[in-house]
Amino acid sequence: MWRLYAEYGRGHAVEFALGIVATTLGRLSGLLPPFVLGLAIDAIFLNRRPFRLPLLPTAWVPEMATGQLWLSIGVIAASFLVGAVFSWLSGWGWNRFAQGVQHTLRVDTYDTMQLLDMDFFDGKQTGELMSVLNNDVNQLETFLNDGLSSALRIGVMVLGIGALLFSLNPSLALVALLPVPLLAGFTYLFVRTIQPKYAAMRASVGALNSRLENNLGGVRVIKTETAEEYESERVADASRNYYDANWDAIRTRITFFPGLSVLTGIGFAITFGVGGFWLLAGAPGPFTGTLDPGEFVTFIVLSQQFIWPMAQFGQIINMYQRAKASSVRVFDLMNEQGSLEASAEAPDLVVTDARVKYDDVSFGYADETVVSHVDLRVGRGDTLALVGPTGAGKSTVLKLLLRMYDVDEGAIRIDGTDIRDVNLRSLRRAIGYVSQEPFLFYGTVKENIEYGTFDATDAEIEEAAKAAEAHEFITNLPGGYETKVGERGVKLSGGQRQRLSIARTILKDPDILVLDEATSHVDTETEALIQRSLAHLVREKTTFAIAHRLSTIKDADEIVVLDEGRVVERGTHDELLALDGLYANLWRVQAGEIESLPPEFIERAIRRRAEVDAGDLPADGSE
Ligand code: ADP
Repeated sequence: MWRLYAEYGRGHAVEFALGIVATTLGRLSGLLPPFVLGLAIDAIFLNRRPFRLPLLPTAWVPEMATGQLWLSIGVIAASFLVGAVFSWLSGWGWNRFAQGVQHTLRVDTYDTMQLLDMDFFDGKQTGELMSVLNNDVNQLETFLNDGLSSALRIGVMVLGIGALLFSLNPSLALVALLPVPLLAGFTYLFVRTIQPKYAAMRASVGALNSRLENNLGGVRVIKTETAEEYESERVADASRNYYDANWDAIRTRITFFPGLSVLTGIGFAITFGVGGFWLLAGAPGPFTGTLDPGEFVTFIVLSQQFIWPMAQFGQIINMYQRAKASSVRVFDLMNEQGSLEASAEAPDLVVTDARVKYDDVSFGYADETVVSHVDLRVGRGDTLALVGPTGAGKSTVLKLLLRMYDVDEGAIRIDGTDIRDVNLRSLRRAIGYVSQEPFLFYGTVKENIEYGTFDATDAEIEEAAKAAEAHEFITNLPGGYETKVGERGVKLSGGQRQRLSIARTILKDPDILVLDEATSHVDTETEALIQRSLAHLVREKTTFAIAHRLSTIKDADEIVVLDEGRVVERGTHDELLALDGLYANLWRVQAGEIESLPPEFIERAIRRRAEVDAGDLPADGSE
């Protein structure tokens, strides 16, 4: 929390100071009317003490009772007016402060996160990160705004009222302040009790929502399986759980204000009793001194002003605890450092021949080695294809080139330079990556093509689209290049998305290309189109390609067969077929010649499939 104020609050110190000053003065001005009321009763109506206002020179006080009354009316009216102005100023100050800190913090958190390495994202769920960026940052805002100002308000009230009451009558002040610690304790206890109930309620509403979402999404299955009754029961159960959790929280919640009233009522009664008897028969019991009726009124009115701020006491503590937890999460994220940042000082990569070399490269995600002792050489104009069964490590080999991860052993060099010695931005600019799942951002077709090459002209964009065989379908879209693609590009077919991402890469014009199953998820006809567009792309470039359909990489200059992270075969298509090993078997599978496969191959495939499927499930077996 300290870091939050020191680092992020500093830029908004003026608003912060304004909030503090305005809240303090606003609250203090609120103490004036009850004080003046008591004074008016005693000095004007009962004539028991002289009319004296603190800070007001005696010479300014009118002689006559009517004049004093007008002065009192004026002071009371003015203090309400001043209170309103301060209240506005404090709202302005606190909110500006909180919004400002929140904004800077959110942008900073996002910037930090964006620069982190892929292995950071691998370990995190998107939802988890969203929750830090959204909920945690918002949680802090709530505290910075409401929490602080309420805490200050309570502090000023207790101290201000306490000081005023003590200066009037210390003994009765003790009596009147008696409920304060009780109120604080009560609201704290209340919040402590209700928090877990609210948590249970949120969990049950979450479960209910997932159930409903799931059922709406799967309504077709529910109907075909005639599972309506079963699902009705499941929804009813989820709804009943929510009902119970909610009711539990409601039962606690509705006791809060009555409880608070009882406590303040008792305090009121005691103050009223002690003061009343004091007025009637002189100082009761251990008390000494005098009490005037007006003072008594001031006491009664002021002690009532405690209730509302104190009702928030427990909430403030709770807000603080949550804000603390949130700031820990936010700053934990801020403390992460990515290699992009770490490499910012390194020199830019200079590509001349675009010759890529993998020298004895090994790598593992956690403990398990996924790539071992891989050697590769590719030059400009050549295509190297990586093939192998699922999970063999093909994608990983290429992620290493982009430095999504760093090699554990060996080195990857481009034109002789180790890629760890260059600036990461320049490395990634030199490489074009067409992935298995092209991601389109919400926006127009044009924006998606020029993404990453933001200064492209319309003519260049169109040219790239033509080379990617995408121009035709784009001009047939209702808005042409300005057509908005839906979220994640859902309004386009897989092949169209793929071609847009190829156009993006053509526009970027990198020296090195990585095609990660660029033609997966498309039909044969589209594949032919994409192949044609890729043919434009790969000319003059150093290309790595992964394809499940071996037909698409048949003409590669070298085909490297990976199995469990090792290179098991390498050569041209014809050489590998002649070798009659793993590649030849994979080729037979795709040609539909299942009968001619050796039984060991099928057994291994089954075993591997089971391993991969098991690997896809989270370790704890949850969904
Ligand atoms: P391929 O592209 O040949 O299908 P991958 O390179 O995707 O293979 O995966 C190789 C192995 O590494 C697999 O066992 C896979 O489960 C594992 N793997 C892939 N990505 C990760 C990751 N981000 N974290 C941990 N293990 C991973």
